[in-house]
Amino acid sequence: MTMIGTEELKSLFARIAEAMASEKDRLCELDGVIGDADHGIAMELGFAAAAKAVLELDPMAADPTLVFNTAAKSFLNAVGASSGPLYATALMRAGAVSKGKASLSDDDMVEIFSAFAKGIQDRGKAEVGEKTMVDAWAPAAVACRAARDQGLPLAECLAVGLKAGAAGAEATKDMIAAKGRSSRLGDRALGHMDPGAASAVLVISCFRDHFK
Ligand SMILES: [Mg+2]
Repeated sequence: MTMIGTEELKSLFARIAEAMASEKDRLCELDGVIGDADHGIAMELGFAAAAKAVLELDPMAADPTLVFNTAAKSFLNAVGASSGPLYATALMRAGAVSKGKASLSDDDMVEIFSAFAKGIQDRGKAEVGEKTMVDAWAPAAVACRAARDQGLPLAECLAVGLKAGAAGAEATKDMIAAKGRSSRLGDRALGHMDPGAASAVLVISCFRDHFK
């Protein structure tokens, strides 16, 4: 078992920021179908701000909680769209799970992954099947946890989580939105993946890539 420290977390944020920058246009296009075409911009801005802020933390003074809390604050300040408070809550929950720990174990990371998903679900008050990012996050967290309960290593748990999250995002194509701006479009959004679910899969794939 490897312990995960603040430097690994900082580079995780850098990885997510890079992924959002390179997928920004695709996310905006998806959002354009059902909303105001800004989701890619919001996610890029948010994670770029988070990555920059955590990079500037003093490595000698920062612990995992400070990294997550700093990322949360920066994300929220950078993003006016609804994804701002959702990811800020997820990051604050990750900070709470990390509290008092100088570094994180594989079990802690599975816990953080679950807390992330739960934070998004609690803040957005969305259920699975409502065509939101919860459709990717919730099954990903459940699958990741189940894999851990079976004794699989972190890398495999995250790979299983990614697979479930990607399937959940794919399933949003067949859903009619119950929440948010896209709910007013009714079945016009049918056939299109929810942009929040698409970006969630990106975040999850960064977790998987980072810890494999
Ligand atoms: Mg939007």
